[in-house]
Amino acid sequence: MKGTEKKLKCDMLLIAAGFIGAEKYLPESFGLNLGPRGTVATPEGKYSTNVPGVFAAGDMRRGQSLVVWALTEGRAAAAEVDEYLMGYRNR
Ligand SMILES: Cc1cc2nc3c(=O)[nH]c(=O)nc-3n(C[C@H](O)[C@H](O)[C@H](O)COP(=O)(O)OP(=O)(O)OC[C@H]3O[C@@H](n4cnc5c(N)ncnc54)[C@H](O)[C@@H]3O)c2cc1C
Repeated sequence: MKGTEKKLKCDMLLIAAGFIGAEKYLPESFGLNLGPRGTVATPEGKYSTNVPGVFAAGDMRRGQSLVVWALTEGRAAAAEVDEYLMGYRNR
């Protein structure tokens, strides 16, 4: 990220980037906005995206994380989808 660059001396550099954001083809094909870390952007605490009726959860929204977060976000996103479809909250 701009402004956070550092120079470090080293003899050998191995890059193990792992998860570096959502695969671009999927957000692109739906016209979804991405956040600065390459994940699908949603409002704070929400799973809706900039495209009505399209929701994101798990690593694609949060970035590389844990299975427990994927489960939690999947459930919360499902509740939000239900509310979107039904027009009311069931809890
Ligand atoms: C090597 C490794 C080790 C990990 N170890 C741990 C661990 O020990 N403990 C832990 O809690 N977490 C671990 N994690 C993280 C955990 O696996 C993820 O946080 C979790 O799986 C995220 O779940 P998800 O449903 O968001 O995404 P995913 O599990 O990635 O599921 C996304 C699914 O979407 C499918 N998909 C992609 N594109 C399309 C498409 N166009 N159409 C249809 N389907 C599509 C993919 O095939 C995939 O099945 C590890 C991750 C990695 C990579």
